[in-house]
Amino acid sequence: MPKEITVVGGGLAGLVAAIACAEAGARVTLHEAHATFGGRGRATAAPYIAHEGAHVFYADGPHWSWLTSRGLTGPLGRPPLRDAVRMGFLHGGRMRRLPPAGFLRLMAGRGRKAPVDEDFFTWVSRTHGAETARVAANAIGVVTYDADTGRLSAAFVWELLRRVFAPAPPAVRWVIGGWQAVVGRLVDRARELGVRLEPNSRVTELPGGPVIVATELASARVLLGDASLTWESGNCAMLDLAVRRDSRDRFICFDLDGGGFHESYSMQDPTVAPEGESLFQIDMPVRRDEGRTDARRRVEELADLTVPGWRERTTWRRSGFSKGRTGALDLPGYTWRDRPAIDRGDGVFLAGDMVAAPGMRGEISVNSAIKAAEGAVRAAAGKVGAAP
Ligand SMILES: Cc1cc2nc3c(=O)[nH]c(=O)nc-3n(C[C@H](O)[C@H](O)[C@H](O)COP(=O)(O)OP(=O)(O)OC[C@H]3O[C@@H](n4cnc5c(N)ncnc54)[C@H](O)[C@@H]3O)c2cc1C
Repeated sequence: MPKEITVVGGGLAGLVAAIACAEAGARVTLHEAHATFGGRGRATAAPYIAHEGAHVFYADGPHWSWLTSRGLTGPLGRPPLRDAVRMGFLHGGRMRRLPPAGFLRLMAGRGRKAPVDEDFFTWVSRTHGAETARVAANAIGVVTYDADTGRLSAAFVWELLRRVFAPAPPAVRWVIGGWQAVVGRLVDRARELGVRLEPNSRVTELPGGPVIVATELASARVLLGDASLTWESGNCAMLDLAVRRDSRDRFICFDLDGGGFHESYSMQDPTVAPEGESLFQIDMPVRRDEGRTDARRRVEELADLTVPGWRERTTWRRSGFSKGRTGALDLPGYTWRDRPAIDRGDGVFLAGDMVAAPGMRGEISVNSAIKAAEGAVRAAAGKVGAAP
């Protein structure tokens, strides 16, 4: 008996959901509004492979095991030692090799449990002082893309800090060719499993039968006609910058003053920029009531420190803003379990980076997609069972 499942959206979540359903024996059709797959995992075309959104994976969760066990992550990049040592922390307007001692003391107590109901700034200030709380909140701007991370749930922010700053060796992974390469492998795997992939196919009405809506939450809100489908997310200004290579350029910089972040992508993966050039992305969370011009100026000020003389060396650049597109943020009193539920009833399931699944950013998309696929496969089986 055929088991038909429809997936709406061909980003990371939609592709993972389609593969998981097909692996369970279902017949799957995936509709993607754009001409190409990948959603926020897309990148610009070579020779400058700059991401629309995501860059890195963390190798310490179920999303990574799911991808690696299927050979979907591919070869990994790592920076040569001479580049990796050029990591910096911007604090008090000066570039430093190490974060402040207060931050190191805070992270040394990584076994502590943080409360869900209290905001991060208040929780850390009580034991380590307001300055350390501010520094720690800005340090994790690399993941939250929020100018006031201190207002978020202490438990949520603490978990992110522990994952990014506590493990040795670090769990961060760069895939050669970037996320776009992983998207390519996901598309190939879906095809191998017989998934019908329909690009240029914007869905405007919820189809019948088991359906997984793997769009951004804003699109899911419209498709499901459910105004309650909202959640908190970040807002940041971004500058992708290719320059002629210079040994003074930073590999990574955490902006502990403004919550910004600078990272090279070509040092660990030379395929993303032409020979002799370096590719960076610099992000700056936009402050509440801050105009775009001011946010863009702050991004460029960070670039002045991390890529000295970049204006004279630039070979390619792209500026942009990303609002509500950087994954779920949990406010005090809320955990991932309180986000929009995956199972919406009547055979409708949600997947994406703002729904009720654990992880951070794209991990939420993968984890929710696997859950949604399990539900859709069950619903499809139930439907077959109930047929006359
Ligand atoms: C600046 C930035 C940096 C980031 N860095 C990281 C990182 O380093 N690591 C990480 O894990 N995550 C990161 N993220 C988050 C990550 O990019 C996303 O969580 C992930 O790509 C979301 O995938 P998704 O499939 O859930 O959604 P999307 O990628 O948004 O895919 C949704 C798809 O649905 C399609 N669609 C929408 N409506 C319809 C419709 N009606 N019919 C058909 N198709 C439709 C869209 O075209 C899109 O292709 C970052 C995001 C940003 C913006």
